Amino acid sequence: MEQNSVFAMALEQLNSAAKLLKLDPNTLRVLSHPERELTVAVPVVMDDGRIEVFEGHRVQHSSARGPCKGGIRFHQDVTLDEVKALAMWMTWKCAVVNIPYGGAKGGVRVDPTKLSKREVRHLTRRYTVAIMPIIGPHSDIPAPDVNTSSETMGYIMDTVSMIKGRTVLDIVTGKAVDLGGSLGRREATGRGVMFNTLELLKRLNKSPEKCTVAVQGFGNVGSVSADLLQKEGCKVVAVSDVSGAYYKPDGLPIADMIEYCNTSKNHLLEGFSAPGVSKINKDELFELDVDVLVPAALEKQIHEKNADKIKAFAIVEGANGPTTPEAEKILTDKGKYVVPDILANSGGVVVSYFEWVQSIQSFFWSEDEVNANLKRVIVSSFANVWDLAQKGKYTLREAATMLAVQRVAKAIEARGIWP
Ligand code: NAD
Repeated sequence: MEQNSVFAMALEQLNSAAKLLKLDPNTLRVLSHPERELTVAVPVVMDDGRIEVFEGHRVQHSSARGPCKGGIRFHQDVTLDEVKALAMWMTWKCAVVNIPYGGAKGGVRVDPTKLSKREVRHLTRRYTVAIMPIIGPHSDIPAPDVNTSSETMGYIMDTVSMIKGRTVLDIVTGKAVDLGGSLGRREATGRGVMFNTLELLKRLNKSPEKCTVAVQGFGNVGSVSADLLQKEGCKVVAVSDVSGAYYKPDGLPIADMIEYCNTSKNHLLEGFSAPGVSKINKDELFELDVDVLVPAALEKQIHEKNADKIKAFAIVEGANGPTTPEAEKILTDKGKYVVPDILANSGGVVVSYFEWVQSIQSFFWSEDEVNANLKRVIVSSFANVWDLAQKGKYTLREAATMLAVQRVAKAIEARGIWP
């Protein structure tokens, strides 16, 4: 595999699913190429008067099943290669849960923690205008991802609305509820991680009350996953963010930790303390003697060098692409279960779809309705993936990718290649 290429990793996963499916090589060729890649320069007048130019991307992998859908990431390590991989995974994610979207992703190479609030706002607005030619409520709908939030989505929605001269609610999802966002969207990805974990435990005849959990990443996905798994009875013994890892063998005070992050600098756990909570090395979190490990930070966190040290029997991928193919082989050879990202963290895009539907109709659902519909989608998608995996002796990733690729392939074949 091409060293360090995340897209090569995504292609490898596609190729192995295609092989198992005996997919038509013509269709595979189409699926191997993103439909559109846009790279933009994003100049921003900084607070000190300097002009800084940031590089941004928006990639649309496939629109075969519907408008493209995918988050926007602000991170210093964003590359076109990474955005391409994330866009492809979005296509599979929307297909595995059977919602009528294709896949896209966007990103700006910037460390937003080093920018002022005004600089981030200007960066977001300028990036939005730069990608406006290819986004739209019926072509490509952005959402939050790493280091972006409902606030960022508000800036995007406002920018598009100002330029169009009318309120465009359905241009983004993950908006604040006050701006037409959906109840339950903020928690949706973590809630989906929780539902997937419970479905797996049920299949393995294990009760949540007897399970210990470690979570890497304490942002949107990690913190909500930790909180909801704890509420379901699991003992969350370790969590981490860029500031370090925090450990308490009889269970961390997750609610207090979330409250702390609501007001801490850059929403980090840095400086958090409570009785019985100790700080451990970030890498140690992966090696803890826990039952469930939820990587919810970035790609390639579980790799050849640490996979062998993982004791958890289940890895539920809150993040996108946290496990390299080499690491997954080590884990599955040891009989461990990896609930793949495209299924495990699909809760976010499922409720984004609900939000889009509500925005188009300007008719809003109760939080209970949102959560019940999310549960229905995740439970049935998990069952489809699990059953296929059992039947064909596939890994959960192989089964999920096969289901997804087959659905997209069928759409491509039914439409034919234009003209
Ligand atoms: P976020 O910015 O809210 O949180 C990211 C967290 O990861 C932060 O706590 C950060 O400190 C931590 N982190 C980063 N590097 C780390 C490291 N090396 N060790 C420990 N912690 C580290 O982002 P998010 O929205 O929670 O996204 C996390 C992952 O989930 C990403 O892979 C993203 O693509 C994926 N995802 C997000 C959503 C969503 O709805 N937000 C949906 C699906 C998938």
